[in-house]
Amino acid sequence: MNLTRSGLGLLSPGGAGGKLGILIFHRVLAQPDVLFPGDMHAARFSEVCSWLAAWFNVLPLDQAVDLLQSGSLPPRALCLTFDDGYVDNATIALPILQQHGLSATFFVSTGFLDGGMPWNDLVTESFRHSKREFVELPRIAGIDLGAWALGDSAARRAAILSTIDHIKYLPTPLRQDAVDAVVAACGVVTPSDLMMSSAQVKQLVDGGMTVGGHTISHPILAHIDEATARDEIAEGRDRLHAITGRAVELFAYPNGRPMVDYVPATVEVVRSLGFKAAVTTGWGFADARTDCFQLPRFTPWDRAKWAFGLRLTANLLRRSRPLERPAP
Ligand SMILES: [Zn+2]
Repeated sequence: MNLTRSGLGLLSPGGAGGKLGILIFHRVLAQPDVLFPGDMHAARFSEVCSWLAAWFNVLPLDQAVDLLQSGSLPPRALCLTFDDGYVDNATIALPILQQHGLSATFFVSTGFLDGGMPWNDLVTESFRHSKREFVELPRIAGIDLGAWALGDSAARRAAILSTIDHIKYLPTPLRQDAVDAVVAACGVVTPSDLMMSSAQVKQLVDGGMTVGGHTISHPILAHIDEATARDEIAEGRDRLHAITGRAVELFAYPNGRPMVDYVPATVEVVRSLGFKAAVTTGWGFADARTDCFQLPRFTPWDRAKWAFGLRLTANLLRRSRPLERPAP
């Protein structure tokens, strides 16, 4: 464990050459998911938190941004972030983070609070809960959404992934038509508690966590006009301020891929609204040269990717070892 810490310290020194790693999480389920067994769940999250607490200096993101800008980050600096506002962030992740003494920032889309959910979750939950063995979907915008036998988990998973893949780039009203058609064809009442309530967002802040903006309705900001983007970002922030009573200084771009999901004009909107920093889903570490309004993040929730990251780190550690010559 100490070898890992000192190795990571070589790779991620502090001070003026300091590097900041930021991890993205979304859901932390109570149990492994039947349909998507690779998704993060409580037992694995607790294990990951114990590694992170042992190996890294986990900091609140707003503090880390100040330290990055002043060239005084500690070595092995890391921040944890959660996107979208799933209910399990408050019910499952919060107590585990507290047990490990870790702090995190939660980026919340305010339009999902108190009963809403993202469109892709509406598709997933409809196929998950459908009691029907066979579901036939209509043609929407010239796209044949297919007919699906929902016999087992593999069949339901295939229906979910295919449907999401076919409709994700449709204009919002047509995509909504497709989602409505899926809900109707599956014949389900979809859950109203997949995302947090406003009270649970307040609970995160009261529990020592930070809350950041993630728009109201989670649009792809590169695809909407600048005035609408400004309203989405500013009103989402103001709503979170009203809920938590705290200034909201951090922002996460929905989907977050540079030049795909947001563009330079979006960055200028966020900057002009007075935020302190913003995070993307571009991969990498931030250092003194990184624009604080485009801080990159890692996605560790995929087990394979996480294992890959650890292997990569181990490799770098092995390579750096010959440099550690004993003093004469
Ligand atoms: Zn998001």
